[in-house]
Amino acid sequence: MSELQPIVLNEEAPDERVTWFADIILPVPIPRMFTYRIPRVMEEMVQIGSRVIVQFGSKRILTGVVGKLHNDPPKKYNARYILEVLDNNPIVEPVQIRLFEWIANYYVCTVGEVLNIALPSGLKLSSESKAQLNPDFFSEDNQMSLAKVEFSEKEKIVLEALNEKSSLTYNEIGELLQEKSFYNTIKSLIAKEAILIYEEVKEKYKPKVIKKLRLSPSYARNPDQLEILFGSLEKRPKQMDVLLAYLHAVPQYQSASVNQVGIAKNQLMDRNLSASSVNTLIKNEVLEEFEEIVSRFETTVPTQEQVFLTDYQMQAKQQVLEHFQHKDTVLLHGITGSGKTEIYIDLIQEVLNSGGQVLYLLPEIALTTQIVLRLKKIFGDRMGIYHSRFSDNERVEVWQGILAGDYPLVVGVRSAVLLPFDNLSLIIVDEEHETSYKQFDPAPRYHARDVALMLARLHHSKTLLGSATPSIESYYHACHAKYGLVALNQRYGNAQLPKIELVDIKLERKQKTMREDFSSVLLDAMQGVLDKKEQAIIFQNRRGYAPFLHCEDCAHIPKCQNCDVSLTYHQYARELRCHYCGHHEAVPQECVACGSTKVKSVGFGTEKLEEEIQGLLPASRVQRMDLDTTRKKNSYELIIESFANHEMDFLVGTQMVSKGLDFDGVSLVGILDADRMIHFPDFRSHERTFQLITQVSGRSGRRDKVGRVIIQTTNLKQPILYKIIENDYLGLFEEEIHEREVYHYPPFVRIIRLTVKNPDKRVVDLAAVHLAHILKDRIGSSRVLGPEEPLISRLRNQYLMQLVIKLEKNLNIKAIKAALRDESVKLTKEKAFKKTNVVIDVDPY
Ligand code: ADP
Ligand code: ZN
Ligand code: ZN
Repeated sequence: MSELQPIVLNEEAPDERVTWFADIILPVPIPRMFTYRIPRVMEEMVQIGSRVIVQFGSKRILTGVVGKLHNDPPKKYNARYILEVLDNNPIVEPVQIRLFEWIANYYVCTVGEVLNIALPSGLKLSSESKAQLNPDFFSEDNQMSLAKVEFSEKEKIVLEALNEKSSLTYNEIGELLQEKSFYNTIKSLIAKEAILIYEEVKEKYKPKVIKKLRLSPSYARNPDQLEILFGSLEKRPKQMDVLLAYLHAVPQYQSASVNQVGIAKNQLMDRNLSASSVNTLIKNEVLEEFEEIVSRFETTVPTQEQVFLTDYQMQAKQQVLEHFQHKDTVLLHGITGSGKTEIYIDLIQEVLNSGGQVLYLLPEIALTTQIVLRLKKIFGDRMGIYHSRFSDNERVEVWQGILAGDYPLVVGVRSAVLLPFDNLSLIIVDEEHETSYKQFDPAPRYHARDVALMLARLHHSKTLLGSATPSIESYYHACHAKYGLVALNQRYGNAQLPKIELVDIKLERKQKTMREDFSSVLLDAMQGVLDKKEQAIIFQNRRGYAPFLHCEDCAHIPKCQNCDVSLTYHQYARELRCHYCGHHEAVPQECVACGSTKVKSVGFGTEKLEEEIQGLLPASRVQRMDLDTTRKKNSYELIIESFANHEMDFLVGTQMVSKGLDFDGVSLVGILDADRMIHFPDFRSHERTFQLITQVSGRSGRRDKVGRVIIQTTNLKQPILYKIIENDYLGLFEEEIHEREVYHYPPFVRIIRLTVKNPDKRVVDLAAVHLAHILKDRIGSSRVLGPEEPLISRLRNQYLMQLVIKLEKNLNIKAIKAALRDESVKLTKEKAFKKTNVVIDVDPY
């Protein structure tokens, strides 16, 4: 390896140095950090969490983040020097780096991968370092010193090229010079201050700038001049109007500082004033134009000081605090509508008053707009929001705002656990059972609730998990004294829980009282809702018109060309779509297999229900809320708003309608297909059905009215349905926990799922068998299940096979994870298994 020389300006006695080496987190798929030498001149600047530029391998220049400072030279290689430090102040907190390392170890990925997900791309690592001429160096003022500097031939080539093209990447410079050691040329040009190096990514984040106007200093500081100006403008009334409008809006007579602040240009332009006169005044240097960086977030002033908890809520809050005396984690099990949010708000206020930071996690902010609005009212600008629909620039501003201490409260989704907190006192995980807290793809495949618990440990802070339907795992920990448990069984304002009924659609079909997919019971109830001018939510956890098309003559079902799934029929878009890879194609006029025209759609999704309701209850106003109708930035909010304003009677939706909505008018919830949820082949299907139906049901009858929930099923004898009807969470828990113990599922064992992928079915089968064999040998054959074909055995042209590893809780999990990683990597490198990929998912969902 070629050794890079440091940029040495002032060589001092080496023993004065404190830190010689830095371990850098780099965006490469190798599970460790890399040691670099710190040049003497950079010693002060290189801090944990700063971004630096380094050379990696012989060709690549990478940006990384300093993870560790120390004095131990690497044993196996000669450390290179750090080339550049990008930040004066670190952008990553030291405690974040410890968290990232934990995540990488626990979820079997690299710290670089964690960093990659954590950093908004405006701050992100990239290899696009670029060089440009240093304008100061080549300026007129600098001609003297310029004459004194000598450039080598190579340096001249680079300077000439930069003169023509405004910038060059390191790779372009390498090609230009046709040699490997071109970094020396770059470095000496940097040392001579002839060129500047910058990171292309640094420009990705653009502060939002507005144009402003103020009175030029000559008038602002001099009332006499202003008098003269007035005189001279007497014949130019339009300009006079502008000037008077300015002086009215900015009373600069009172203090010079108001003039300094000025006024937004468009604000002056808006006032029926002549735009050309404004511009003339600028041209004549009466007004001065300047720019100001502003926040992308609207400022909000809190409108509410305090919440008043009910006695029950107060009691629950006291219990939470008592548990926190001895325990780090408390589970708040409060039924829907009990006012958990109010308790959170009260606790947050206490923490903020004592100077701590709070992180409030929500499963998906788009789905919880109402809660965010509620919090904004109370916490105003002290609250930062972090969420998937924000632009990257907005995310950078939240990140930097947290670093600057502007946001003691952060409300965010999953990835908010990765933000730069330095002083967390409390983490709230709302709806802790939600599966959207788990990231599927790409790595790190982390569970935000579980990461939050580790984050709390690193900050010595407390965690409050909240849910009306806790996950079996969390409730188990609460029952076994690992967490504190607080129950809240009263709804706010003494509202009653909804009354849940079952309808036997098998019977209705036999009696021919079904109309399309609606039972007569549900349809009558919907008519009643219309008559009373109330509202209803119709829930079906499946979007599109129908899950598939079916040929009545040859039984052919159109499938995705890339995946082993049937194509969903979307009538509105006139398309067949794959919900897994995004493939779509036109709806065939006739069966592609036999040419028959008897092609029918089977089953129903939200789109079809919307259409049916319009046909069955023509006087009603229906809207649909699912992934297809909420792709645009504010579409979700618009639908919610129009439903809240009673601009529609029925809202048809997927699980999106189950969360965070709180409407006065909803008196009925219809659940169209409970059976499909119950029979989904997964050990969590009963738990999920209970959670989903309870959550959706909770949307009805919130105030003084008792809501009604109607569940359509083909089998009235399913015990899980009665647990839902009776809101018997404990019953569910006891049965589930028993099954999990007997059949070895979490929380009694840990599950790690390995998915082997290859475009060739034969290869994937062989590779999976091979991996299973080796793993059985290494970690014990009873712990490795499979290989087995997953439910969907081909996705995006990759064939899949799965191994499930079940590990007892007391095992040395670290060693086993290392073995899984090693063997997976080895497998992908074997010639026989070319193009094989192994995805490791710890605690899969
Ligand atoms: P949960 O999250 O437990 O389902 P919410 O926090 O959404 O319940 O509360 C349900 C409704 O009751 C909300 O409209 C909320 O504003 C109201 N509410 C609850 N507690 C109070 C309180 N102490 N004061 C005023 N309104 C409350
Ligand atoms: Zn056919
Ligand atoms: Zn597909």
